[in-house]
Amino acid sequence: MSKKTIVWFRQDLRVADNPALNEAAERGDVLPILIVDETDQDMALRGTARAVWLHHSLLALDKKLGGHLQVFAGDPEQILLAVAAENGADAVFWNRCYTPHRIIADKQIKQFLSERDLAARSFNGSLLWEPWQVLKKDKTPYKVFTPFYKKGCLSAQAPRATVAAPSDISFVGEASDQSMIDGLELLPRHDWAAKMMADWQPGEQGAREAWAQFADNGLMGYKNGRNFPAKANVSRLSPHLAFGEISPHQIWAALEHQPQNEDVAHFRSELAWREFSAYLLYHFPTLPFENFNSKFDQMPWQIDQTALEKWQRGQTGIPIVDAGMRELWQTGYMHNRVRMIVASFLTKNLGVDWREGAKWFEHCLVDADYANNRASWQWVAGSGADAAPYFRVFNPVLQAEKFDPLGAYIRTFVPEIAELPNKFLGKPFEAPAQVLADAGLELGIAYPHPIVDLKQSRNRALAAYQTMRGQD
Ligand code: FAD
Repeated sequence: MSKKTIVWFRQDLRVADNPALNEAAERGDVLPILIVDETDQDMALRGTARAVWLHHSLLALDKKLGGHLQVFAGDPEQILLAVAAENGADAVFWNRCYTPHRIIADKQIKQFLSERDLAARSFNGSLLWEPWQVLKKDKTPYKVFTPFYKKGCLSAQAPRATVAAPSDISFVGEASDQSMIDGLELLPRHDWAAKMMADWQPGEQGAREAWAQFADNGLMGYKNGRNFPAKANVSRLSPHLAFGEISPHQIWAALEHQPQNEDVAHFRSELAWREFSAYLLYHFPTLPFENFNSKFDQMPWQIDQTALEKWQRGQTGIPIVDAGMRELWQTGYMHNRVRMIVASFLTKNLGVDWREGAKWFEHCLVDADYANNRASWQWVAGSGADAAPYFRVFNPVLQAEKFDPLGAYIRTFVPEIAELPNKFLGKPFEAPAQVLADAGLELGIAYPHPIVDLKQSRNRALAAYQTMRGQD
């Protein structure tokens, strides 16, 4: 009789290059399942943009699996045990996740299953290099990106080869219907998400198309173009990577077929930043909630709920910041350059704790990734590994002038100031009365006055930094 293996899908919602699925299919019959684990403390799922994405991604995965995906909500240990008993499965395979809660939980589950004569095996589906394989000569982890990437990753064993989807999967049991996925109730009751999802195609096919579109139209010129939010030089692969609809191995391998130039090299290094975040989180599991640099424990963060809410709603009166925060709200995504600008504004000009910003991003981003998000917030705040120095405070007006010179990005997301000439688009508060009148713009009515003075708040941030350093 054929052996039956449960394949437990998590952040690997694809059939191609899925080592756990391949191994299970080779072994015998496959029972694919996904469990929404409410106890996962790393990032809450309910009510987030990610929950909406997950719903659609599951529909796409289920289709790929011929309607055989079974979904559950609850305690993975008990569900895996019950499903195995009910279907006569003797093994559970999954691809590894690397967040702190998941690592602890997975270890326990492995032991729990093996004590009940169920084989449990895990595989690498989401990182090019296993975090424990890349270490300095003294066997301690890297804390600085460039040596991590150049000395650690690039001189380590090359990433594993990709594996094609199993050609013919034999499934356990009959196909189910979509109602199981609907039953997870991942979609919001009021459909605020339709607009957000309009430009996205969750699922493996969508990921493949996003890659093809980028490879054809965005990769050339990536190194420089990736800084300009109005340019199509970024891949928008992040949600697909976060849900594992495409693996970094597939992208890494596809890059081999591109002309090897600085754009490709730079794109590879950005994928390596993703590895670095996961690596840091693995080796420093308090990274999501504790300052990586403990000097920042002395930082006198402001508690300003009103300012925080204005930032969240894109009503700060600083156009590039508001454009970014509205892009986030409307599309579930924000361009990397603008993520840096809004994060710098929150932590430095408004003096708000980086953890507040990280939480809001995790609520709104379709690509929210615990490692990337928390490491990046700490990086911008200055408290992180290999962080931007705290005293480097982004000037959002100059950033807008440099990276959105024609104002296309600001005009898309802050239409109420669209009639301003380019010269004042990033700083309506400096526009002469006549210019405002010609643009039909009354500051304080149609668009807010800045909630902080950029220069004063910058100086306040630098003074706070000095105070913090003085306590060394
Ligand atoms: P591309 O430029 O096309 O890059 C391709 C891939 O490389 C990305 O999908 C991503 O996986 C990786 N990558 C690119 N830049 C970075 C980076 N700086 N750090 C780590 N990986 C990177 N990224 C997330 O995936 N999830 C998050 O929750 C997240 N939160 C962030 C919060 C802040 C404050 C900042 C400054 C950055 C954050 N990033 C996050 C990193 C980066 O902004 C996004 O990965 C990127 O904008 C995604 O767009 P893209 O796929 O078009 O990027």
